[in-house]
Amino acid sequence: MKIDESMLGTEPLEIREEIPADDLGLGEEAGLTIGELSFEGTASKFDRGIRIAGTITGSVNGPCARCLEAFDRELSISFRSDYIDSEYFNESAEAEIGQDELDADVLPEEPIDIADVVREQIVLAEPERQVCSTECKGLCSNCGANLNLGECGCRDEVIDPRWEALKKLKKEL
Ligand SMILES: [Zn+2]
Ligand SMILES: [Zn+2]
Repeated sequence: MKIDESMLGTEPLEIREEIPADDLGLGEEAGLTIGELSFEGTASKFDRGIRIAGTITGSVNGPCARCLEAFDRELSISFRSDYIDSEYFNESAEAEIGQDELDADVLPEEPIDIADVVREQIVLAEPERQVCSTECKGLCSNCGANLNLGECGCRDEVIDPRWEALKKLKKEL
């Protein structure tokens, strides 16, 4: 669905849309396999542009931020995105919005494609923060073994690279 100002009146426009993963052109680069996705929310006109707000839900398969193993997870992203008329879009407006923790963009000339909005939100939310389990032990920083599968045996020898750098420095002094 594409939103343009002429579609918006005084009442917010309700949007409920299934988004085929192919329309997002995401995945490969982010290492994500996206299943069903849907967006439910509203588009509304405000004094300086268009606001799109709602929730994206769906299922995704992607790597764990700690151990890198792919796992299935449910996606649920609530957001509010303001598309501000370029006339009003300047640094102070951005700073004001930044404090409010909402996303702001310049209102494009062409209609706003909901699939683009969704893609942007997924990229912002994924995948850095996703872990397969709060218990995930991650990878050994020394040999790279997945510690969830068992001890790798080199744990005692692990040296924090920062200490290593300091030691080197000391030697050079
Ligand atoms: Zn993990
Ligand atoms: Zn190891």
